[in-house]
Amino acid sequence: MGKKGILVDMYYCTGCHACEIACKQENGFGVGSWGIRINEIITKKPNSDRVHFDYLPYFTPQCNLCAERIATGEDTKPSCVKHCGTACMRYGEIGELAEEMKTKPRAILYSPL
Ligand code: SF4
Ligand code: SF4
Repeated sequence: MGKKGILVDMYYCTGCHACEIACKQENGFGVGSWGIRINEIITKKPNSDRVHFDYLPYFTPQCNLCAERIATGEDTKPSCVKHCGTACMRYGEIGELAEEMKTKPRAILYSPL
């Protein structure tokens, strides 16, 4: 079986934080402990008073891709992927996700060691 990872299509991430909460509940992480964080980045548009919001997911070293959840067969998806508010996260083989990433203008691919 090949190495697994998570692809996040940032174009559709709304910053809803459902992935953060799902991860905390799955892993019992307390205050200050996270498997994933969503960073909000606000940039001002050139020659305009309007601003643009970007949401950048960061997987912390605590993320193990929900190894236990997957190993026990409780689910085929990590908790964050299952509860993503816009279904913009995908779990699978790194090679397949890398191929899919080529079609997406704004995406990140994560895989722990
Ligand atoms: S894969 Fe599991 S451990 Fe990693 S961020 Fe998602 S819910 Fe948390
Ligand atoms: S649950 Fe999905 S849409 Fe919501 S912040 Fe996380 S990655 Fe973005």
